[in-house]
Amino acid sequence: MSAAAASPGGRMRSWMAEAYPICRSITGDGVRRTLDMIEAALPSGVSMTRTGVPSGTQVFDWTIGDEWNVRAAWVDGPDGRRVVELADHTLHLVSYSAPVRTRLPLEELRPHLHSMPDRPDWIPYRTSYYHRNWGFCLPHRQLESLEPGVYEVLVDSTLEPGELVYGEVVLPGAGAGEVLVSSHVCHPSLVNDNLTGLAVATELIRHLAGLEDRELTYRFLFAPGTIGSLAWLSRSAHVIPQIRHGVVLTGLGGGGPLVYKQTRRGDAYVDRAAEHVVGRRGGEVRGYSPYGYDERQFNAVGFDLPVGRLTRTPHGEYPEYHTSADDLAFVADDELEESLTALVEIVEVLEGDRVLTNLSPYGEPQLGKRGLYPTMGGKSASDVVMAMLWTLAYTDGKASLLEIADRADLPFAAIRAAADDLLDAGLLG
Ligand code: ZN
Repeated sequence: MSAAAASPGGRMRSWMAEAYPICRSITGDGVRRTLDMIEAALPSGVSMTRTGVPSGTQVFDWTIGDEWNVRAAWVDGPDGRRVVELADHTLHLVSYSAPVRTRLPLEELRPHLHSMPDRPDWIPYRTSYYHRNWGFCLPHRQLESLEPGVYEVLVDSTLEPGELVYGEVVLPGAGAGEVLVSSHVCHPSLVNDNLTGLAVATELIRHLAGLEDRELTYRFLFAPGTIGSLAWLSRSAHVIPQIRHGVVLTGLGGGGPLVYKQTRRGDAYVDRAAEHVVGRRGGEVRGYSPYGYDERQFNAVGFDLPVGRLTRTPHGEYPEYHTSADDLAFVADDELEESLTALVEIVEVLEGDRVLTNLSPYGEPQLGKRGLYPTMGGKSASDVVMAMLWTLAYTDGKASLLEIADRADLPFAAIRAAADDLLDAGLLG
């Protein structure tokens, strides 16, 4: 393994590069292959369970449709030359295109062709999940150059009863309660909107698997968007009551600061934890809105799960969104690594926050005689002392360490470390 691949950023990049060409959709072999790839990247001793929900199954107000698979798809021009081909880019074919083999004049082909006049070199991403149709996507510049004449079209796809598949990775904790981490697995060759979520989630699993004493159980869900999360919710009545915190992951590269979207209620504990971490990293916190990714399903009134969402620049707010320009070059390793670090810091809060009581509350305890007051001066030493003084000042049996960190404007980890020193010295209980 190269040095680059041994770093989290290098691992995430090489995983995404391998997953990029796979033709994913909400059902079909592309999802299975992607789940295989996630499973292959899991640390030893950690496994994935898969659930297949058959076509025709009712999930709340939705029905699992036929499974879609495609072997080949192309358009040949009047001169016999190939105009577009699925094998060149998965975005060339409208996802869920029905099978077709036909010859037709350009005027009749034209309604089946999609492009972006304002971005003439990019291929748009189009789907037709719930309306049976077929189509191709291509750069507008190429579409404009098509000559009149008869075109030959092949979509060698199948739409047949099958199943929708999702995968779960569960890392059990010592205590009660679960954390749901969800990332959609249904987009084809799009990197920021899909593959970054999968790659960062997989790295987070590696990190969590290496923690010695996890209190919470972590449940990672890799499911197709909307219908996949609904299918999971329909099969998880036993799990739903255990979920204490959750976060949807996607769009974790692609520039811009971190953006945390609150839960529907906006006052969940995960909101406080994420706001602390994202805020200290110069990111942005936004209120809930009923549009976006699978947080819409988890937060629906009937489930009311405390699931927020972490992205960088959100969907629809960058021109590359849902186009061929959302490629491997669009995301940077340091963006992915910062997103991962922020999630690790959120986990540190979820695992490490406590309400403690100052056991020496009558004035300031003498830290020096307990070896807690650094004998060397300097900025870092005073930060350590300040974290202890803030902790002692507010551990009244009511304020949590996270609340103290926010009040002190210090990282949670600094207050947690101070609390550990004070616990060891018998000054907190
Ligand atoms: Zn999307």
